[in-house]
Amino acid sequence: MLKNDQLDAWDRENFFHPSTHLAEFARGNLPQRIVTGGAGCHIEDRDGTRLLDAFAGLYCVNVGYGRPEIADAIADQAKELAYYHSYVGHGTEAAITLAKMVLDRAPANMSKVYFGLSGSDANETNIKLVWYMNNILGRPEKKKIISRWRGYHGSGLMTGSLTGLDLFHQKFDLPLAEVIHTEAPYYFRRDDLDMTEAQFVAHCAAELEGLIAREGADNIAAFIAEPVLGTGGIVPPPEGYWAAIQEVLERHDILLIADEVVTGFGRLGSMFGSDHYGMRPDIITIAKGLTSAYAPLSGSIVSDKVWSVLEQGTDENGPIGHGWTYSAHPIGAAAGVANLKLLDSLDLVANAGETGAYLNATMAAALADHPNVGEVRGEGMLCAVEFVEDKDDRRFFDPSLKVGPQLSAALLEGDRTIARAMPQGDILGFAPPFCLTKEEADQVVAATVRAVNKVL
Ligand code: PLP
Repeated sequence: MLKNDQLDAWDRENFFHPSTHLAEFARGNLPQRIVTGGAGCHIEDRDGTRLLDAFAGLYCVNVGYGRPEIADAIADQAKELAYYHSYVGHGTEAAITLAKMVLDRAPANMSKVYFGLSGSDANETNIKLVWYMNNILGRPEKKKIISRWRGYHGSGLMTGSLTGLDLFHQKFDLPLAEVIHTEAPYYFRRDDLDMTEAQFVAHCAAELEGLIAREGADNIAAFIAEPVLGTGGIVPPPEGYWAAIQEVLERHDILLIADEVVTGFGRLGSMFGSDHYGMRPDIITIAKGLTSAYAPLSGSIVSDKVWSVLEQGTDENGPIGHGWTYSAHPIGAAAGVANLKLLDSLDLVANAGETGAYLNATMAAALADHPNVGEVRGEGMLCAVEFVEDKDDRRFFDPSLKVGPQLSAALLEGDRTIARAMPQGDILGFAPPFCLTKEEADQVVAATVRAVNKVL
C-alpha cells in the first residue's frame, strides 16, 4: 500500500482528472479524495470515512456498491474469456444474452442493440446511424440534429456539441455546425414568459416548429433529448411536453433519439423513461444503469424502422463501417447480465419509484418554507433543489457566489453526504442508488436542511 503523501504527490504529478480546475488541483487547493471501498449507498475513503453517496457516483451505481453477484460474474468471465471482439458476426454468450435481456425490457418496436463503452460513444454511434440512414434513403441533405439547451449528451466532438451547456463548449470551438439547439422545458426558469405550464408547453412546441421552419425540415435528421433533463438541472418535463414535441417531430419526419443514459433501467421507477412519458423513440441511448457502472458498457437500441434501413444499406454497400475494439466487451456484458438480474430479483425499479417518491416528498416538505428554496422537483430516484436569492420575485443568485458548490461542500463536511452541485445554476442534485432505504432518505433530507441553514 502506498503512503498517503506518496499517493497525493503521484496524483498531482501524473493524473489528468476530467472536469477539474487543473491549476488549482496542481497547487494542492482541491480536495483529493481517494476512494477505497463501497457497500450499498455508502462509499469509504482511505481515511476510513464513510460517506452516504446520494448521487450514486455519477448517477450510475444504481444497484448500489459492493454487490458480490456482479463482481463474481466479472471475475468468472475474465477467467473464462476476458476478451473477444464482436466484428463480422463474432460474439460471446454474455453479449448475446445481454442483448436479449435489453430487448426484452425495451419499449415497443425496438429491434437490436449495438454495444459501445460510454454514453458519449453511444450517442456518436446514434448520429452516425441517422446520417447513414438518410444517405441510404437518398436524402443526403437531411443531416442537422436538434438538441435542447441544458441537455447533456456527452463530451465528444459531436456529443459535446449536442450538449447544451456553455462549460462544455467554451474554448473547444463547439458546437459543430450540424447541431442546433432549442428551448429546454424548464418552466421554473422561464418566469419571464409569464405563462401557465400548459402555455409554456405550447411555447416549447412552437419554438421547435419555428426552428424547423427556419432550417427546413428537409435538412433536419433527428431530435435528441433526455426524458428528464439531467445534468442541466434535473428537470422533469411539464405535463404534455412529450406529446406536443412528438407531434411536431412526426409531422416533419424527424427521428427521436431518447438519451436514456440516466433514466434507462429504472431511475424513474419505470424500466425506461420513454415508457414513463409515452415517448416513441426511434433510437434509445443506454449506458450507466446497464451495468450499474461495475464495468463500462453502453448501447444504442435501434427500432425496427431504423434497422430495416441499415439492412438495406449493407445490401447496397457492404458491411457497415462502424465499430469499436471493445464493442460488446464480454466483461462489461457479464456485468450487465448480472446487474439486470439483480434489478429484477431485488425489485429495485419499484424501490426507485417508491423510495424516490418518498425522498422527493420529504425533501419538499422539509424545505417548503425556506426563503431561498425556489423549487424542489424530481421524478423517481431523481431529486433537485433549486436555490434563489429571492423566492417571491424569483431572483437568482450571482453565479460568482457559487451557492450550489458551497451547499454541496457543507453537506459533505457536516454530514458526510454527497449531493451534486449541478454545473449550471444553484441546484443540488440527488440521484441515490435504488437500494436507498427510507431511513437513508431521511438522513439525506436532514443533512440537506442542516447545510441550507448553515450556508444561507
Ligand atoms: N447522456 C446523458 C444523458 C448523460 O447523463 C451522460 C453522462 O452523464 C452521457 C450521455 C455521457 O455518458 P458518458 O459520460 O458515459 O460518456
